[in-house]
Amino acid sequence: MKKIGFIGWRGMVGSVLMERMTQEKDFDKVDPFFFTTSQVGEKAPSYSHKESCLLDAYSISELGKMDIIISCQGGNYTEEVYPKLKDIKWKGHWIDAASTLRMHKEALIVLDPLNGDAIEQAYINGNKTWVGGNCTVSLMLLAIQGLVESNAVEWVSSMTYQAASGAGARNMKELLVQMGELHSSVANKIEDKSYNILDLDKDTQKKMHAKSFTTTEFGVPLAGSLIPWIDQDLEDGRSKEEWKGQAESNKILSGYFDSIKVDGLCVRIGTMRSHSQALTIKLKKDLNIKEINNLISNGNKWVKLIPNNKQESIKSLTPASVSGTLDIAIGRVRMLDLGNNLISAFTVGDQLLWGAAEPLRRMMNILIQKEG
Ligand code: NAP
Repeated sequence: MKKIGFIGWRGMVGSVLMERMTQEKDFDKVDPFFFTTSQVGEKAPSYSHKESCLLDAYSISELGKMDIIISCQGGNYTEEVYPKLKDIKWKGHWIDAASTLRMHKEALIVLDPLNGDAIEQAYINGNKTWVGGNCTVSLMLLAIQGLVESNAVEWVSSMTYQAASGAGARNMKELLVQMGELHSSVANKIEDKSYNILDLDKDTQKKMHAKSFTTTEFGVPLAGSLIPWIDQDLEDGRSKEEWKGQAESNKILSGYFDSIKVDGLCVRIGTMRSHSQALTIKLKKDLNIKEINNLISNGNKWVKLIPNNKQESIKSLTPASVSGTLDIAIGRVRMLDLGNNLISAFTVGDQLLWGAAEPLRRMMNILIQKEG
């Protein structure tokens, strides 16, 4: 059995990866080794019922014994350790959740339902570095896979509504704390049957702007508000998250599909773990709505086309309905009155599953299948 080293297994993405590997009985197929940057020597988790201790995630000699390393530890860790493994001419496969290596020449961004052929070819060519894509990019491409594969897309404008989980575990917790603090600020008044809504609104606003309001992670209120900027300021009017849309999408498509233009605004909202995106898509061809819906719903087996009506949209096209599942919901598909071949769509997917852990888990399985 292949020796697989896991780094970052107890973080947010890593925990979801462990959960999925347990559900799919992946631990039966591998010999797992668990590494840590902070708890060397402590008892390792027992996902495979194997008794072992946590290994030092900075020990190049221990890491060098692995056939496959899966890192969900973060970009700083990758920056420090990956080159050292290269220096010792390590022959194993490196699978990573961090963005550090995504645009490197030697790395392939993995999203196998769409770029399985590129993965296959890269493997044949001796590629050893496999990196999960940005969450909104992976979720968007899976949602419109049917349109992309039929070469129907000229450009996409993606306006995102991104969950707190994309910023990390501490941010998710802070969102809940903020919600609690807002509620506490008006708890007594809410119970009062003759409440005055403007009073409640004034009190929550006051709380949001108070020094005591918890904003350690986000820097500003998210609960009861939103944050119209994600990741670094590239100082050309774009955020780095927005830049990734075009750059990563086309790296994933390159060699096998025509390139598409992707741009839009990325916004953090107060949801927990599913990202949503409102898409405007310019089609290259004349397609009617039935043809468009057919292409979308046949894109892959996780895409769920939600009929464009109020009842089904509010019930099934939401973070509340999709979170914790592998479904990629897409709906609100209609021709726009703004010009020829322009359509709207709204899509929602769990960013910790297809947006982070699942492409890595599937890449590990592809390698195990190939190498035994
Ligand atoms: P995270 O939750 O912050 O975990 C990273 C590491 O923090 C853990 O492996 C653990 O390492 C350490 N840690 C310290 N205290 C901890 C605690 N109380 N509970 C759990 N872990 C603790 O990081 P993440 O959000 O999973 O992100 C990991 C990487 O994936 C990043 O590069 C990120 O950019 C990328 N990514 C994230 C997402 C996302 O949705 N968050 C999506 C796609 C990609 P030790 O065990 O070594 O101490």
